[in-house]
Amino acid sequence: MTALKLLILGGSGEAADLARALDGDARYDVTLSLAGRTAEPAQLPGRLLTGGFGGAEGLARVLGEERFDLVIDATHPFAVQMKANAIKAARAAGVPLLAIRRPAWVPRDGDRWIMVENLEAAADAIGEKPRRVFLTTGRMELAPFRSAPQHFYIVRSVEAPSPRELPPRVELIVARGPFKLEDEKALLAERKIEVIVTKNSGGAGAEAKLEAARSLSLPVIMVTRPDLPEAPSVETVADALAWLERHHDSTSSTWRGV
Ligand code: NAP
Repeated sequence: MTALKLLILGGSGEAADLARALDGDARYDVTLSLAGRTAEPAQLPGRLLTGGFGGAEGLARVLGEERFDLVIDATHPFAVQMKANAIKAARAAGVPLLAIRRPAWVPRDGDRWIMVENLEAAADAIGEKPRRVFLTTGRMELAPFRSAPQHFYIVRSVEAPSPRELPPRVELIVARGPFKLEDEKALLAERKIEVIVTKNSGGAGAEAKLEAARSLSLPVIMVTRPDLPEAPSVETVADALAWLERHHDSTSSTWRGV
């Protein structure tokens, strides 16, 4: 039988892990799609599309014209627009969709989290008094912190923002996770961090900073998860692979006439 044509909507660790897990698996013909925000994305196997589809209608058109059999939405938990577009487009094109939705981090004993709903509220929550802030919200999301220029920010992002995107008093650390607990503890201590600001991305790769904050009793301003549209979903790449297997098996048994 011919391979099932799979579109992975990427931009997350899960998308990368899924693409790697399917590398060389002849049952699937994999295309990975990225928004194109990162100039040098991690090298992954398979065909790559970059730069968006032009809304839900554009994605529905691509799904139909390129005869995709399956879509997996493995975008980041805060990529709300793409998730909504994917559901709408898959429905319009009649293509089964699965979303990988990694669980949010939950506070544990000893955590000092301040929950906020968005980045503006996060910047406000740092307060008036100048503080040393570890900011890991991503390079596209720095505007609210430029409006709170009294603080000193240690910004960590996968790619360097342009200087005009940065707040005035800043140290930039360009690094890609996963990060280790001991390194995170050292970073927080050496930079004399007083508060951490992060989105509740969930996942193991960026979690060590939260453990480090707990051990140093530092407050964490946590941007809570956005509401997401309903979709069939799993939490892990392993479960997504099992979903693919089921589709493959049901397609091949249909073809054999069983
Ligand atoms: P978004 O607001 O949900 O999407 C905005 C637009 O970007 C979409 O309408 C789509 O453009 C395009 N897009 C997003 N993901 C795409 C993908 N995988 N393939 C093709 N086009 C995509 O997304 P965002 O929050 O800006 O995030 C952009 C990308 O960065 C996503 O892939 C996401 O997984 C990744 N990311 C986001 C965050 C975050 O905190 N938001 C963090 C880490 C990584 P069209 O309408 O033209 O199709």
